[in-house]
Amino acid sequence: MEIEIHPLTNDPTEAWHELSQKQKVIKINAKHPTTDAPNDKLRVVCMSDTHSLTPFLKFDIPMGDIFIHAGDFTKCGNLQEVIEFNKWIGNLPHKNKIVIAGNHELSFDSTFTHPFDIPTLGMSRDILAEAIQTTNVKDYLTNCTYLEDSEIIIHGIKLYGSPWQPEFCNWAFNLPRGELLLSKWNRIPSDTDILITHTPPIGHGDLCCNKVRAGCVELLSTVQNRVQPKYHVFGHIHEGNVYIFLFFFRKKLHANIFVIGYGISTDGKIIYINASTCDLNYLPSNPPIVFDIKLPPGCSKS
Ligand SMILES: [Zn+2]
Ligand SMILES: [Zn+2]
Repeated sequence: MEIEIHPLTNDPTEAWHELSQKQKVIKINAKHPTTDAPNDKLRVVCMSDTHSLTPFLKFDIPMGDIFIHAGDFTKCGNLQEVIEFNKWIGNLPHKNKIVIAGNHELSFDSTFTHPFDIPTLGMSRDILAEAIQTTNVKDYLTNCTYLEDSEIIIHGIKLYGSPWQPEFCNWAFNLPRGELLLSKWNRIPSDTDILITHTPPIGHGDLCCNKVRAGCVELLSTVQNRVQPKYHVFGHIHEGNVYIFLFFFRKKLHANIFVIGYGISTDGKIIYINASTCDLNYLPSNPPIVFDIKLPPGCSKS
C-alpha cells in the first residue's frame, strides 16, 4: 500500500491537530516485570539518548533477551565516545544488543560535512570537526548489532532500525519532511515486529515543552497503515513523562493528560515507546522501558 504525503506535513503541530480528531492516544504506565520472561516470550529492554552519560545512570538496567538503544548514544559521535559506548554495552549481560544512530552521531552519517553549522551544546568546534574525521566508525561497535535502514531477526521476531529524522538544526541524518523521509520509511519491511527509529512519529512521545509536535506525520501513517509493528521504539525528544492540565468546566474539575516525551502510549493496536534516558537538562534519569513480546508459533528461545 502506498502512503500519501499529508498536506500539512511541514506543520506537524497543525497536522496533529487535524489527525488527532480521529486518533486514540492512551497512556500506559511503565511497569517493570518482577518475574523472568516466560519461555514463549522475549524480554526487550529499551533505552535511548544516553549521550555519553552512561557512567551517571541513576538506575539499574533490567535483564532481558534483547537490549535496544534507539540512538544519540554520544554527544557528537567522537571516536572516543563511540569506543566508550562500545565498552559499556559490551558489559551488559543481554544476549542481543541492537543499536541505531541518532542526529548526534555525526561520524555515522557519511553525508555530514558541516560541523560549524550545528548548535555546539557546550562542545568545542574542534571536537565536532574531529568527530567527523573518523572513518569506518561503525567498525568500532563490535559489541552490538548496528542497524541502519536494515533488519535483524531474533528467534523469529523481526527488528528494523533507521536513524533518520525531520530536519532540525542541521544535525546528522536530517531529512526534509515529506517525500525524502517517506522514501526511508518505505524501506521498512511490512512484517516488522519491533520498529526502531530515532524520531518519534507524530502524536506519540513527540510533544516538546513549547507545545510544538516534533514527530513525523508520514512515519505515523507508515506505522499505522502499512507496517503495523507490535512495538515502535524511539527517543530523540527528551521532554518528561506526562503533562497534566487541570481545569474547571461546569463547576467540575477536569484533567487533560498529554503524553509528551519519555514514556509509553498506544493507539489501541501499536505500542509506542519513547525510551529517552536523558531528560531536557541532559540528566540521565529516565529508567529503561521493558516489555515482553510473544514468540511466533514454532519459535523458541533455545
Ligand atoms: Zn538526544
Ligand atoms: Zn536526537
